[in-house]
Amino acid sequence: MRDNFKERSTKLSILQKNKLYFIETWGCQMNEEDSEKLSGMLISMGYSSCDNRNDADIIIFNTCCVRENAELKVHGNLGQLKGLKKQKKDLIIAVCGCMMQQKGIPEEISKKYPFVDIIFGTHNLHKFPEYLNRVLMNDERILEIESGSDEIIEGMTIDRKSSLKAFVTIMYGCDNFCTYCVVPQVRGREKSRKSEDIINEIKNLAKEGYKEITLLGQNVNSYGKGLEEDINFPKLLRKVNEVEGIERIRYMTSHPKDFSDELIDTMKDCNKICNQLHLPVQSGSNRVLKAMNRHYTKEEYIEKINKIKSLIPDLAITTDIIVGFPGETEEDFEETLDLVKKVRYDSAFMFLYSNRKYTRADMMPNQIPDDIKHERFNRLVETVNSICAEINQEYENKIVEVLVEGVSKTDDTKLTGRTNNGKLVNFKGNKNSVGKIVKVKITKPKSFSLEGEEI
Ligand code: SAH
Ligand code: SF4
Repeated sequence: MRDNFKERSTKLSILQKNKLYFIETWGCQMNEEDSEKLSGMLISMGYSSCDNRNDADIIIFNTCCVRENAELKVHGNLGQLKGLKKQKKDLIIAVCGCMMQQKGIPEEISKKYPFVDIIFGTHNLHKFPEYLNRVLMNDERILEIESGSDEIIEGMTIDRKSSLKAFVTIMYGCDNFCTYCVVPQVRGREKSRKSEDIINEIKNLAKEGYKEITLLGQNVNSYGKGLEEDINFPKLLRKVNEVEGIERIRYMTSHPKDFSDELIDTMKDCNKICNQLHLPVQSGSNRVLKAMNRHYTKEEYIEKINKIKSLIPDLAITTDIIVGFPGETEEDFEETLDLVKKVRYDSAFMFLYSNRKYTRADMMPNQIPDDIKHERFNRLVETVNSICAEINQEYENKIVEVLVEGVSKTDDTKLTGRTNNGKLVNFKGNKNSVGKIVKVKITKPKSFSLEGEEI
């Protein structure tokens, strides 16, 4: 399957010269990477990208359904396309991504928005050129969703947004079934890519000049399960660390229950693995963690954090937290605040609990009223943000190494990049430094970023 993907998509494609496409992506890095694959397919069919959807000949919405908000945005945006399609009869509209993998949703979208031409899911992304050709040649309307299979499609062309940093998916799906989460439903069971395929992809990226790789998976600690080779996530990291030309390695997401000493040792031994750990805790209450089916306690989590902090200097720790899980009491919530103060996160993604159909939590009693959720959420944000600002303050006058990504979006007299441990730095420096790792002296720490000067 690996080698004939390109051949297949070129054979199928009618070359669309001077035609423009626009992709809107919601959700996580996995969706970002899927959109980069869609871009790759469209470019090999002769399309070019554009920044304004009103100019596009084809519009693709790559959807997310992890929280209700993400779904509402898709509906809002689809509603806006009705008028555009009336004005531009040849406009092709496609909707894909996780939301389409949910029971009943593709049919609902198809009925509610009859101007949508193609609806497909996460498991048949690679068939997009075929669907597009069927629309162009036969004027068909397509609704095709597949459920997960064991097959992994290798060798797809990826048109990456950055020429310096790349996401590389190492495994798909999730077997964990946290009670609030739809990911296992929509992304299917865990399956890992062969290490040889991953390493070859990274070697090619290094040849193209990429300096930083982020290995992606819903639960990277499970990497290797089901493969014939003798491999696990730490072993894979060691292999990636050997790829010449790559200077920084990051990964996400690690599940606390599977976060092992072997992984800590690997982070310590491998010079290219960044001093950054994203370890979603979700809650600080053992009762809530149990109801979430997370398989660790607050104490075990803190013990793991303390261990890695003591072994890896300058480690930045980030997390995900859900507020207002069914049955969460004020005491449970205060346990979360207490954990946040003990761990002292460098930053956190904080979410209001969102009911998701067909999850166990959706059927739990004691759903928390919105006003209580919001009130707790605001207290959590305040606590997390004041700790982040305090941590950043400690960087004043420090010298950090920054991989320079380009000119700052907010101030074009400055350059922008990230430290080894993931902090955003805007600084005065030499434009020739773009693409290099340079030393920067921090002159002004801010709450969510650092300012400095190249030295
Ligand atoms: N596999 C990753 C992340 C998956 S989704 C992990 O386990 O950490 C990203 C984040 O969205 C989760 O960590 C969780 O904090 C949040 N999330 C998932 N489902 C949610 C829901 N129903 N309501 C609110 N937040 C949710
Ligand atoms: Fe969802 Fe839990 Fe799997 Fe993460 S580990 S994707 S939160 S089920």
